[in-house]
Amino acid sequence: MAPTTRAVVQTGPRKLELRSLPVPEIDADSALLRVEACGICGSDAEQYTGVLPGAWPSVLGHEPLGIIERIGDRAARRWGVDVGDRVAVEALIPCGHCPACIDGRYPLCRGRGRMFGYSFVPLDQPPGLWGAYADLMYLDPMSIVHPVRRDLPAEIAVLFNPLGAGFRWAVEIPGTGPGDSVLILGPGQRGLASVIAARRAGARQIIVVGLSRDRHKLDLALALGADHVIDSEEENVRRRVRELTQGRGVDVVIEVSANAPEPVAEALHLVATGGRIVLAGVKGFRAVPDFVSDLIVVKEVTVRGAFGVTRRAYDAAIELIESGTVDLARLHTHDFGLERAEEAIRTLAGEIEGERCVHAAIRPGLG
Ligand SMILES: [Zn+2]
Ligand SMILES: [Zn+2]
Repeated sequence: MAPTTRAVVQTGPRKLELRSLPVPEIDADSALLRVEACGICGSDAEQYTGVLPGAWPSVLGHEPLGIIERIGDRAARRWGVDVGDRVAVEALIPCGHCPACIDGRYPLCRGRGRMFGYSFVPLDQPPGLWGAYADLMYLDPMSIVHPVRRDLPAEIAVLFNPLGAGFRWAVEIPGTGPGDSVLILGPGQRGLASVIAARRAGARQIIVVGLSRDRHKLDLALALGADHVIDSEEENVRRRVRELTQGRGVDVVIEVSANAPEPVAEALHLVATGGRIVLAGVKGFRAVPDFVSDLIVVKEVTVRGAFGVTRRAYDAAIELIESGTVDLARLHTHDFGLERAEEAIRTLAGEIEGERCVHAAIRPGLG
């Protein structure tokens, strides 16, 4: 009988099944990953609930960390890794040929329909095992893998994904450096990762804004290096930011709040003249109420979108993880085996009463 592997397959909105799938054959250019951990983020929740439309069935899991189980000769040479090495895998599978890829801007690849763990690459597209909620996962020849030291706990190493976003969105894109004041709207995984990255880049002042129900995340932001946190339901954010910045506003705003469009309009009031705003939280394609574009003009504000992460930012994240200089264990709160994938996503999404989740991971080895 052909060997099989367990994998969590989504068959429709809120429908997950643990199935046995055939282990794919690999060729000289591809590989198989034994998944140690796969991070869960808001995109998993959006797929699970059907907010992100899908071509189901497909295997979930786009933030994989694992050990190379088998690898073709050419893949080993090209990627610089071999059987037994631990790697972090980027979700995007770039095409390598489009203008964006050739210009080195692969997060904008037109081939970005090909990603691990998303239903745009469904189960019926060979070899099927395109997601990391599984014991084994297929690594396409165009996969981007980053070696990670093996002696770190998997639940810490798997933080490469949100931390990579923090480095790209809060540092690389706005050019954050020493002397900058940085305001982060939204204290989720990526907001907290932005705190860590901005601190590492030498930001002078870091302020994080969240809701009352985010209190535990705001406390964590302070523990990870934020100077001030603001509960937007309890305090007047504009007045507080003015006080904290001697009336100037902040140099950099990172907008990473989920779903609510209002903070985008608010960012224009909070940013200093000549400041930079990075928009990375998606809003379900809804318009922003009370958006005063004149503020962009009169303050000469730079507004940039951020979609995805770059190799550089992932490398910065992995270097930080390997350095052991930040107590990252505080970010990771929940682990789940494959058979509890549904509970894992619902816990991250805040659907489970009493669970205060920051970062969760699927750990196939747990059962
Ligand atoms: Zn994700
Ligand atoms: Zn491309």
